[in-house]
Amino acid sequence: MAKTKKPYSRKPAKPAAKTKAKPAPRKAPKAKALPSMSLENYLGKTQIFMLKTREKQTIIKEMLQKLEKLGKLEHSDRYYAQVIHRESLENTGIGAGLAIPHARTDSVATFTTVLGVSPEGIDYQSYDGMPVRYVLLSIFPTEMSTKYLYLVGMMARIFSSAQKRAQLDEAGTPAKIYQILAKDAKEYFDSISQKTEQKTEKIESLAGVPSSDLDLLIRLDSLYHLFDEGNTSDSINAKIDQLKRLIDNRSLTYYERMRKKCQNPFSIIEKSSCSGCHLEIPPIYLKQIKESKGISVCSHCGRFLIII
Ligand SMILES: [Zn+2]
Repeated sequence: MAKTKKPYSRKPAKPAAKTKAKPAPRKAPKAKALPSMSLENYLGKTQIFMLKTREKQTIIKEMLQKLEKLGKLEHSDRYYAQVIHRESLENTGIGAGLAIPHARTDSVATFTTVLGVSPEGIDYQSYDGMPVRYVLLSIFPTEMSTKYLYLVGMMARIFSSAQKRAQLDEAGTPAKIYQILAKDAKEYFDSISQKTEQKTEKIESLAGVPSSDLDLLIRLDSLYHLFDEGNTSDSINAKIDQLKRLIDNRSLTYYERMRKKCQNPFSIIEKSSCSGCHLEIPPIYLKQIKESKGISVCSHCGRFLIII
């Protein structure tokens, strides 16, 4: 949809207020929640619904249609083959009753997602053998891959808790599920913002480490979390080992160290500050981060940075 341009609406340039004193540079702003740090930025209230069908293929169709009905996606049937194709490369049943079918495609301009709930459970052939009750379907352009990863990382963390899963299972209605998820998401975001013990050790550069490692690290992180929650099955161990072999040694070592230091080694950058430590990223560094194709870390707290 093309936005209609308002003709002649350009405002006259304001005269520069030269007399005003420069504001002091902002340092460590008070821990204020970024707009991106709420569930609504990823998943709106209307985007949770109860699934009618119970088979993987029909569910994916049903969910794409839901996105179209919500006005979030046009010609939803066009994406079916892409989602199924992605599914054939690797089953997106990521364990703990959650599946994350998705398609990265530049035929959409923005990130769109919907959560389907099946109280009876679906046989999704997840690696942990658990039936899937929650299906998060997302369609997004390549440039929003990190936003997607962030959502998935958050959901995986929530679902790794048996207690949280039980609360969601008992909820019964989309509205109630939304309420619980919004609370869990807030808790998750608060956990990111917890101060890291700063021993001011030098943060080394991960320059040259491919950004695809970030995908793998976020997945590894959610598996570790499942493991910490007591899911110590052989299949989890095997999956962890498999992922570790795929990750560059430097980023893996760095991740392992950060994991000991803080609850959540990932943070979001929005409007130039790090969601982990709330400190402003210097503009020159920010520019480098945006241009880099590799992994970047916060120069203050050392967390892996995700730009939204
Ligand atoms: Zn930081």
